[in-house]
Amino acid sequence: MDYYSNQISKLIEELSRLPGIGAKSAVRLAFHLIHMPEEEVRKLADAMIDAKAHVRYCAQCCTLTDRELCPICSNEERDHKTIMVVEDTRDLAAYEKTGKYNGVYHVLHGAISPMLGIGPGDIRLKELIQRLEGDVEEVIIATNSSLEGETTAMYISKLIKPTGIRVSRIASGVPVGGDLEYIDEVTLLRALEGRREL
Ligand code: ZN
Repeated sequence: MDYYSNQISKLIEELSRLPGIGAKSAVRLAFHLIHMPEEEVRKLADAMIDAKAHVRYCAQCCTLTDRELCPICSNEERDHKTIMVVEDTRDLAAYEKTGKYNGVYHVLHGAISPMLGIGPGDIRLKELIQRLEGDVEEVIIATNSSLEGETTAMYISKLIKPTGIRVSRIASGVPVGGDLEYIDEVTLLRALEGRREL
């Protein structure tokens, strides 16, 4: 990296910290940015800073939003008695894209992973349990079918069972270890329709 000026090296270093950006891509992006008009670069930087400053967790479902309540939680037309539990906001987006789910969500922001030292207290489980004190008929667990996702599903179902609320798990038509956001809509719908009670 000594061939570049300090500023370029610094930029390359920062870019290469981003997920999915390898050393080569970081160099390519850095040079692309430097050749962009200053105004465009400023727009990009402002978008990043604004998103960071204004995006927060929905007070109800914990998804990322820029309001107190996300558009789904504040929509009276949705069925607020059915809660689908997902690992992150991208999974929520995947189900929303199908346009066929009318309930609401709960976003955990992760999954339990004893191997990585992530316990129940590290994800948004407490918030889910609080929501169950309200009028809830069914909780659909749609965590990924990875080991972590299954562990989390099992943990949640054990917590909910004693409350008498129906708990179901999406069908395992979803490839093992596959992130929900990459699965096509037909597979997602089949997984949702084929859910089984736990
Ligand atoms: Zn919400």
